[in-house]
Amino acid sequence: MSLYLKQIEQLAALQKIDDEIMQLNAFLKNAPLELERMQIRSSELRDAVKELNEKIAQIVGQRDQLDKDIEDAGLKIKKSKNKLMMVSNSKEHQAMMREIDNLEKMNRNREEEKVSVMEEIVGQEESLTEVQKELADLQQEISQKKKQINQKLQSSKERLKTLQGQRGEAEEVIPKPILSRYQFIHSRLSQPVVVFVDQGICKGCNISIPPQTYNVLQKGEQILSCPNCHRIIYWAGHFAEEES
Ligand SMILES: [Zn+2]
Repeated sequence: MSLYLKQIEQLAALQKIDDEIMQLNAFLKNAPLELERMQIRSSELRDAVKELNEKIAQIVGQRDQLDKDIEDAGLKIKKSKNKLMMVSNSKEHQAMMREIDNLEKMNRNREEEKVSVMEEIVGQEESLTEVQKELADLQQEISQKKKQINQKLQSSKERLKTLQGQRGEAEEVIPKPILSRYQFIHSRLSQPVVVFVDQGICKGCNISIPPQTYNVLQKGEQILSCPNCHRIIYWAGHFAEEES
């Protein structure tokens, strides 16, 4: 294998290590944030449960009051009807009839109101059940996530140590100027830094490289960068046999 190909291979190996380091670091950074978001949501849901319970208690109170009023008015009606039989004065009789009518009308209104209050209780209880289910699911998810994070935190830290060691080894065998070029690009561009060119197209930016650059690249004598995205490029054909 030529020196050029060896260097490309070393760069690709370094790239692979850096990819994994980046993924691990992203996990270590994002997992606690994700957990925090879940906990915020969980506290919102707990507040919602509290609010719904308060609302339901209030509506149940309304219903109980209606029941009491209906019962009280019912007793009054009964009393008045009993009295009515003993009244002989027609003026007094009429006044009592009006009072009974009035009480009965009020109770009909209360019964109607009670129907809508009962419907509202059912609706609020349905919402409560939904929120409680979401909360229970989320709490289960949170406890799983915590377990997962703790496990992965430990293994990631160990893996990172290994990768940093491998990275140091890879850096030692790559010539200084090429390594600094890699590091320069690495600090400025999103991953990956080392990409292959297939049929004239850079896999880093998916744009064709000039034919002249492509010809030089295929000769495999010097390490080139994509004129468009500046990533280090190599010709896929050089590694075609190994990859297939
Ligand atoms: Zn490119």
